[in-house]
Amino acid sequence: MKQGKLLYAGKAKSVFESEIPGRLIMEYRNDTSAFDGKKLAQLDDKGMVNNKFNAFIMAQLQSAGVPTHFDRLLSETESLVRALDMLPVECVVRNRAAGSLVRKLGIAEGTELQPPVFEFFYKSDALGDPMINDSHIVTFGWATAEQIAQMKALTLQVNDILIELFHAGGLILVDYKLEFGTSDGVLMLGDEFSPDGCRLWDAKTLEKMDKDRFRQDLGNVIEAYREVGHRIGVKFD
Ligand code: ADP
Ligand code: UDP
Repeated sequence: MKQGKLLYAGKAKSVFESEIPGRLIMEYRNDTSAFDGKKLAQLDDKGMVNNKFNAFIMAQLQSAGVPTHFDRLLSETESLVRALDMLPVECVVRNRAAGSLVRKLGIAEGTELQPPVFEFFYKSDALGDPMINDSHIVTFGWATAEQIAQMKALTLQVNDILIELFHAGGLILVDYKLEFGTSDGVLMLGDEFSPDGCRLWDAKTLEKMDKDRFRQDLGNVIEAYREVGHRIGVKFD
């Protein structure tokens, strides 16, 4: 399908109008960023790998009853999605301590978190995505109390589904970020789920298999993404 007008070019994806009303083309690029865009690189095949990885995960979630924006794969690096009005918040769930939780609260990396920790962040590159709570979201009109409840419930439903999926592939789902939006007032999962936006550790060796390989200069970033995909059944070629 022909790309229409470019609506938005983010740090990793570009969003275009499509030929179908209410649908957008999401193009996954090889651009990779970390630390609020301060670390940048091009990683060969990242766009293709994340596009196909995300398509697989979205299909799994959809068939388990999670409403998502995903329609279909269009090409190696493009997907067709429902156009959403995105809510400017990021929903993070943590099953093990890592990343900012370790840095901010001094919890040892790898500590099991039961029940899982849920956090909201305000999506703002200029402010460095600060952590926020329900009260900020309601007062500043970023989402309603009902949408907050729906986002929490859906994010935790996703956790139950994906913990199992990755466990079957010998992987620990450490944490992940989701974004939601609305279409005709109906809330659904948007954006992407790929190793760019989650942490996955090998269950036996605890080796990092996600974007931390890029953040921490561990090398073989896309090789690790592909390995994760192979273990859960994603077909890349
Ligand atoms: P960022 O904006 O953080 O740099 P990306 O490069 O991944 O991130 O850009 C993709 C953008 O598209 C994000 O801002 C995301 O909120 C937005 N988006 C994701 N899904 C949809 C959708 N279904 N409709 C409209 N916008 C979307
Ligand atoms: N995350 C993301 N985009 C963001 C912030 C976080 O995809 O803008 C993901 C990140 O990859 C991790 C989880 O959300 O899987 C929790 O991130 P954390 O708060 O630990 O931040 P970080 O250590 O990456 O700064």
